[in-house]
Amino acid sequence: MSKTVSKLSVELKNAPRDASLVSGYVNKSLNREETLSVSCIVLADNLGEENQPLKRERQDSRVPVYTYVLNMRGQPLMPTTPQKARKLVKEKKAKVIRRIPFTIQLNYPTGENKQKTKLGNDPGYENGGISIITDEKELFVAELSLRMEVSKKLDKRRMYRQNRRSRLWYRPPRFDYRKKSKPTGWLAPSIRNKLDTQIRLIDFTRTILPITEIIAEIASFDIQKMQKPNIQGIEYQRGTLFGYTVRNYLLEKWGHKCAYCGKTNIPLEIDHIIPISKIPNNRIDNLTIACRPCNLKKGNKLTDECNPKLRKRILEIQKKATKSYKGATFMNIVRWKLIEQLDCQYTYGDRTKYQRTKLGLKKSHVNDAFVIAGGTTQTFSKVYEVKQIRRNNRSLQLNRKGFKPSIRKQRYPYQRNDLVKYNNGLYRVKGTHCKGTRVILYPPNQKKKIKSVSIKKIELKTYGKGLSFN
Ligand SMILES: [Zn+2]
Repeated sequence: MSKTVSKLSVELKNAPRDASLVSGYVNKSLNREETLSVSCIVLADNLGEENQPLKRERQDSRVPVYTYVLNMRGQPLMPTTPQKARKLVKEKKAKVIRRIPFTIQLNYPTGENKQKTKLGNDPGYENGGISIITDEKELFVAELSLRMEVSKKLDKRRMYRQNRRSRLWYRPPRFDYRKKSKPTGWLAPSIRNKLDTQIRLIDFTRTILPITEIIAEIASFDIQKMQKPNIQGIEYQRGTLFGYTVRNYLLEKWGHKCAYCGKTNIPLEIDHIIPISKIPNNRIDNLTIACRPCNLKKGNKLTDECNPKLRKRILEIQKKATKSYKGATFMNIVRWKLIEQLDCQYTYGDRTKYQRTKLGLKKSHVNDAFVIAGGTTQTFSKVYEVKQIRRNNRSLQLNRKGFKPSIRKQRYPYQRNDLVKYNNGLYRVKGTHCKGTRVILYPPNQKKKIKSVSIKKIELKTYGKGLSFN
């Protein structure tokens, strides 16, 4: 037993650094084969991703903050420092356009000095990241929180609506709200919202920075490339990234467990379903993940030579292996649509992960976006927290007698999340009451509520609806 363990630890040295995170390794004999070569990269350590020595971290206190600059026609120029911006505003050479992120517009004509600016986008389900870099600096970076309550809200609306309509004596039949009759390319509202929010943020950054290139992550694995390994790319040709991709792909496809016995948290090996010693086949659909005992038990027997129980299992595995694994289908829809709408370049998640671990960066959406944009040694900048705030406060509510939902249609002067000035301090509005004549305020970045204030005592600084920056 101890002999096997020591053998494992030796072999793990050849695996990519974050390999132990998924508790498995590529059998060394497999590595020698051309298509599954991981052996050509030797890394110093093989710690899990959480235990990685981080080479760089984003420190919020010291990182630079930029002021975004627009020319007289409102087109974006390269950003400047807050000190210079303050001077320009003081000398009346510029006016303030937006507070967060701080943006000014020049009052005098200037030449255009634009650099190559790349935007990296890492779309996600709950959060997303976006990073804009030049060759030396990161100019803008934001972590986007997406709305998670959309479908719940729609369920509630449906409940009230069905209830209300069922009370009618007669209502002509309607069909056009059914999913079947939706136009092609229709997305569920919760997904549509996530997609639109990401596009809205990218469109916003285009108004403050002259972006020349956009790159987004499209999927976790490049399945096409795995099936035809010798297409292009240095890392693919050398086989490092390719072996890494195959390994991660198989682990994900088979759920990080042995395909034969279903055990988890044990070293896993790549197993050829039809042994290569019998029929040489290194295609992805002939590979699976197995633990050592299962792999040994199967040996290099052909399916027909196995006992009936094992043969049945092998046939099941074979069936599953030939199906292509698409990962989380939801994210795939959003990502493809995103690329389609932005008409931009794309990259794959495994490449991002590989590059990020190589740079020694922590796993986060902003760091992924930074890597996707092609970032290496650029200086970081302050991370903005971006949130999509509901624009409408139209809500269904029970009336005072406790039934018949009424719809509040009136807009009050102050809405949730508006930034206001009160007693020489900045506050955000938590909510309104007394028919919009009073608001409840809280200091930004703190959840502590303060007492309700009359709207006569406050002054509006920025509306909080839509994309809200912090
Ligand atoms: Zn097993």
